[in-house]
Amino acid sequence: MIGIDEDRAIADLHRLARFGKCGTGVDRLALTDADIAAREWLRGRMAEAGLDASIDRLGTVYGRAPNAKASVLLGSHTDTVPRGGWLDGALGVIFALETARAWRAAHPSAAVGVDAISFTDEEGTFHACLGSQAFCGDVAEADLAPARNAAGESLLARLAELELSGRAAARLDPRRHRAYLEAHIEQGPRLINDGVDIGIVTGIVGVRRHRVRFEGQADHAGTTPMAMRRDASFAMFRFATEVAARFRAVGTAESVWNFGVVSVKPGAANVVANEAEVVTEYRDLSPAVIDRMEAALLDLLRERDGEGGVAVSANMIGAIAPTAMDERLIAKFAAAAEGEKASFRRMQSGAGHDAMILGRRIPAAMMFVPSIGGRSHDISEDTDEADIRRGLRVFARAVEMTLEALGPDGDGAL
Ligand SMILES: [Zn+2]
Repeated sequence: MIGIDEDRAIADLHRLARFGKCGTGVDRLALTDADIAAREWLRGRMAEAGLDASIDRLGTVYGRAPNAKASVLLGSHTDTVPRGGWLDGALGVIFALETARAWRAAHPSAAVGVDAISFTDEEGTFHACLGSQAFCGDVAEADLAPARNAAGESLLARLAELELSGRAAARLDPRRHRAYLEAHIEQGPRLINDGVDIGIVTGIVGVRRHRVRFEGQADHAGTTPMAMRRDASFAMFRFATEVAARFRAVGTAESVWNFGVVSVKPGAANVVANEAEVVTEYRDLSPAVIDRMEAALLDLLRERDGEGGVAVSANMIGAIAPTAMDERLIAKFAAAAEGEKASFRRMQSGAGHDAMILGRRIPAAMMFVPSIGGRSHDISEDTDEADIRRGLRVFARAVEMTLEALGPDGDGAL
């Protein structure tokens, strides 16, 4: 068993939570001073653990096991949403640090090492999953230039200000990185409500977004008879209600959808709206189900187009394919949970994670620990310390099983 030190890991989690501390949570948006200070600290902890540790040109902190010709890569992210929780991302990074540190101490000259990483800007302050996408070579230079935060600050200008721009880029090396494992808090209520210790992620859902547009005619809202109106807002609200019913009909019990952005023009109480827009987002683990949901939306659009004098059109403004986790690594998490006498459940992840990006390139898997009250993306987010400790033991055991499968030269099958 990898000789992890639970107390040391818990202390590191609490130390990390002091950077950008905000009440019971943290405010550590990507590339803010607090985020960079946390990353500098992490780099130092990785170096103390004997890893070749550096911060790359985008802020990703990478600790590479020296002398190893193959490795298991462990990680998550240390940036947060505004007024975020202390464990979202941080938990996975400290589990990675502790496991890499313990393996390195016990096997300093092993040919197969454990690398640890904290990707930059997972939360999308400038660009969602920026670090993991850049690591995998999925971000073109042209994508970086327009990236700005909510305040309008340019990513490239901020990187230059931090003197990161000239640095090397941390990059995935599929010959070295044989697998990626990530631990995370669940960020939802399922484990805590059912008293289950560990969630083993089978896949990360895909997301599709459509902007649906309605064009009618502006008229006086007092004098125009109801039957003569070409009311874009009425058409939009009816469409949203109807499309939800159709999603329910073609989706699964796990499918979710949302209408997160709505706009009505000209936006006056006494004017019949001539323009309305709603952004519809829907998610499922199965590409076929997502396709069915899209077809349902487009069918409804064709049926309603022109009705009541309102033209309806839609364009897709986002699509992320679902990512399946590696079955061999899922089995290791299950065996590790059994070894720790922890109850576990296979489940999908409704939220995006860095493992989704890595999982397209190399075998990847994720495990969850319970979130108290299912709360996340808020300073109230928390996990019972006993659950954190149990989660670390399960995680380290799964990493050890992965290393065993790879064998002393790293060329074994997972
Ligand atoms: Zn996260």
